[in-house]
Amino acid sequence: MSIKENYNEVKRQVLEACQRAGRDESTVKLLAVTKTHPTEIIEEGLAAGIEYIAENKVQESIDKIPKLKDLYKEFHFIGHLQSNKIRKIIDLEPQLIHSLDSLSTIKRMNRIAKEKGIIQSILIQINTSGEASKFGITPEEADDFIDDCQGFECIRVMGLMTIGKFTDNEQEIRRGFKLLKTIFDRNSGKNFPNIEMKYLSMGMSNDFEIAIEEGANIIRVGSAIFGKRYYQGSEK
Ligand SMILES: *Cc1c(COP(=O)(O)O)cnc(C)c1O
Repeated sequence: MSIKENYNEVKRQVLEACQRAGRDESTVKLLAVTKTHPTEIIEEGLAAGIEYIAENKVQESIDKIPKLKDLYKEFHFIGHLQSNKIRKIIDLEPQLIHSLDSLSTIKRMNRIAKEKGIIQSILIQINTSGEASKFGITPEEADDFIDDCQGFECIRVMGLMTIGKFTDNEQEIRRGFKLLKTIFDRNSGKNFPNIEMKYLSMGMSNDFEIAIEEGANIIRVGSAIFGKRYYQGSEK
């Protein structure tokens, strides 16, 4: 299957999931996760109609994103971000950074954004599965954490992100997504000028249909579009 065929197949599955959920297809933004793939492959995807791309590593983004700048509509950063790499990512002008889970990192990002005269949009990453290997704040910490973001005038909190549980058990995956939606809804009424619960970023290649049924409006799909990734000789 070509990237174009894969992409169209994913879009068809998105449409069907939207229909099942009684939602309009236009309410779901499909991010193509391009990590590990070279720019030639990404260009092929962009020529096939991909509009939104996402990377999860800072150095890889620096190497690839400037070369693609005229070809994509939006670049999103979805990986864990260390404090000392914030400036490098902001320089790439990401539409949204999905993966903030530390107030000290947000504080530093606020300072850099202020210095550059921009407002940076972010999502807060929540660890809904309880798996120790995953980043993100706990669901219990979420409300206070969101409140604590209100002082950062150059940061705009636009919603929440999670990574689904690694399991074949659909109910367990669904439970994590439902939990994120609950936190999202609960924090939607907050009246802080720089906080708006607009985006719910959840769902990857193996669980985006469940995520759409549970209210995701951004999904992050990599291998279903670009095929398997190869890391130093091993599959992952
Ligand atoms: C890699 C990655 C994805 C995409 O994963 P696939 O299973 O290939 O679709 C989504 N979100 C994050 C945060 C990722 O790192």
